[in-house]
Amino acid sequence: MMKSSELRQSFLSYFESKQHQIVESSSLIPGNDPTLLFTNAGMVQFKDVFLGEDQRPYTRATSSQRCVRAGGKHNDLENVGYTARHHTFFEMLGNFSFGDYFKKEAITYAWEFLTDVLKLPKEKLLVTVYADDDEAFDFWHDMIGVPKEKIIRIGDNKGGRFQSDNFWAMGDTGPCGPCSEVFYDHGEHIWGGPPGSPEEDGDRFIEIWNVVFMQFNRSADGTMVPLPKPSVDTGMGLERIAAILQGVHSNYEIDLFQNLIKAAAKLVGTDDLSAQSLRVIADHIRSCSFMIVDGVIPSNEGRGYVLRRIVRRAVRHGNKLGKKGVFFHKLVDALDLEMGDAYPELRKLKDRVASILLKEEEQFAKTLDQGMKILEEAISQLGDKKIIPGETVFKLYDTFGFPADLTNDVARENSLEIDEAGFEVAMDAQRARARSASNFSMDMSGSVTLDSVTEFTGYDDLAGQCEVETILVD
Ligand code: ATP
Ligand code: MG
Ligand code: MG
Ligand code: MG
Repeated sequence: MMKSSELRQSFLSYFESKQHQIVESSSLIPGNDPTLLFTNAGMVQFKDVFLGEDQRPYTRATSSQRCVRAGGKHNDLENVGYTARHHTFFEMLGNFSFGDYFKKEAITYAWEFLTDVLKLPKEKLLVTVYADDDEAFDFWHDMIGVPKEKIIRIGDNKGGRFQSDNFWAMGDTGPCGPCSEVFYDHGEHIWGGPPGSPEEDGDRFIEIWNVVFMQFNRSADGTMVPLPKPSVDTGMGLERIAAILQGVHSNYEIDLFQNLIKAAAKLVGTDDLSAQSLRVIADHIRSCSFMIVDGVIPSNEGRGYVLRRIVRRAVRHGNKLGKKGVFFHKLVDALDLEMGDAYPELRKLKDRVASILLKEEEQFAKTLDQGMKILEEAISQLGDKKIIPGETVFKLYDTFGFPADLTNDVARENSLEIDEAGFEVAMDAQRARARSASNFSMDMSGSVTLDSVTEFTGYDDLAGQCEVETILVD
């Protein structure tokens, strides 16, 4: 059985043998992009290189990038616990060409790594290409030998040429181009259909690798200017490929997650290792810990509020499993056992991480029980109605520290929804009250690093509903 750490190394070594420079993962806080909440793809640290605005001493690079998708456009928070393949924190393996090789080599490398190095059975792989990308289609078919029926063209069907699934765009402006994705068929016994089919959201066919052919820079008026040199950006989820190699379907069944889930079960005192809440907790300890390692601390705005919301969700899931009192921070030790070797910065800061989490847990623990009572009561009074009123959601937020997404999480478990518009109205009213109560404007500093304060502007985030532009990697 190949462990995640061996897989990571195998990927980097393979691309090193193809003259790629191994580059360290960058921070979860993008250094070069104030519009981006968290690093959500391997290419983020190379954005300016693709644009030709930054130069590196290499034209080929490979990395294992820590990523968070828990805010902005790329938000997988609501998927955690519900799909086999989504995390808020994950590692993205990637290879990059900055004006060096293009489609032919990118496709060759991807296929060779999957089928020669990892020995994945070819018949279980499917690929997609951008609808009119005959070149990529031909490489997959003529050069690699993928049968035509296993090469799916995906394009205009999702709302116009440049918004489709297989045209990767870095937000409204920036580098973009058609992409080609590799999917793995986990078998008939799992619900889901191939990409492009009505059942594609199921978990039978899981996307493992996205190979982007960077060709254009999209400007603000929508025009597509060809990049000086066509480039390549790829991303493969480490946990998804680990699941395949370990012969399991869900990412949550891989070694690393099973160990975290067992540790969490012990801490909250449950024997049911299949509990959805344990998967959520195991996911959340990773994103929360690594955010803190990278300098985010819980707060009421920006990145700090994303962190706070995730901690509170984790604590609520512990509570749901019957846990009274704090537990979440204790999982940092188990996380360190799993990931401390690969991430020395986690090992170094783990006590600090645990104490920040403990403080945050204690603070929420004071109001959690009371808030849950109010929420349960409100739910029991709904009768046939399926929507929790905005005022209730607001009261829970304002008085009991329940972020709206947490209330929504509970609602969803009960097949209910929350009245988001009503909540917003109540929030606006509160903002107006706050504004008239003082002339001094909101402090927009988004996150405080361990040693210093980083300034962010441009978040409309009193409620953490960050309307920031993020990189689109679809
Ligand atoms: P999906 O369609 O499954 O949500 P995606 O198309 O959003 O994935 P990309 O933006 O193409 O994903 O990212 C590249 C790769 O990163 C994916 O092919 C997948 O292996 C991995 N990945 C993306 N999002 C997640 C996540 N939330 N958790 C774990 N791995 C992920
Ligand atoms: Mg996605
Ligand atoms: Mg993709
Ligand atoms: Mg996708």
